[in-house]
Amino acid sequence: MSKPSFKLGIMGGTFNPIHQGHLVAAEFIWDKFKLEEVLFVPSGKPPHKGNNEIASPENRWMMTVLATASNEHFSVSSIEIERRGESYTRDTVLQLRQMYGEGTECFFITGADAIAEISTWHKTEDLPHLAKFIAVSRPGYKLDIKKIDPRFQKCTYLVEVPALAISSTQIRERIKKEQTIKYLVPEVVEKYIYKNNLYR
Ligand code: ATP
Ligand code: MG
Repeated sequence: MSKPSFKLGIMGGTFNPIHQGHLVAAEFIWDKFKLEEVLFVPSGKPPHKGNNEIASPENRWMMTVLATASNEHFSVSSIEIERRGESYTRDTVLQLRQMYGEGTECFFITGADAIAEISTWHKTEDLPHLAKFIAVSRPGYKLDIKKIDPRFQKCTYLVEVPALAISSTQIRERIKKEQTIKYLVPEVVEKYIYKNNLYR
């Protein structure tokens, strides 16, 4: 009998900052897919974003650690931050398979907006063989298999998660305008943002 493989969820993101939308999506996917662990991987220098308003990788990593600390099946990896330069999902998945063992079954979790852009990602030739993709619903974006790059349609699951119309962009804008962000992010993250004067 073959050993059951380790099922690893990978939640990539800028996490600028991490918010309840990320956490609820990761928790529901952990439960639905009976994953062993969900690993949050904050990006180094995100290829799709300019440098405007991006908190330092160290601050984004720290907020991700604080937000996930109380959940025993959540953890955080700094591999993309340590790699610096551009972050490519393929490199990350390959590196994690080496670290966790080649038999690891990787489930890459993305929102409906991010999966629709997968055709613009670089270095994706063998990605459909390296990981399965889970596209979660997100308010404002249509979750439609036809909208996904055909090469990824066979290895992508579409999953409805509780709708939280929260984005990091909205949180940064609210902080600038001195509006409350209470309950949009975990309290520890809110305190960290104010203590370190982020996004002002
Ligand atoms: P920004 O506004 O800066 O782009 P964001 O809120 O989209 O921030 P990201 O770090 O870009 O957050 O997202 C990381 C991943 O989480 C992406 O796959 C994204 O689609 C998904 N995601 C973000 N917010 C939600 C949400 N509210 N519901 C479901 N998925 C989400
Ligand atoms: Mg985003």
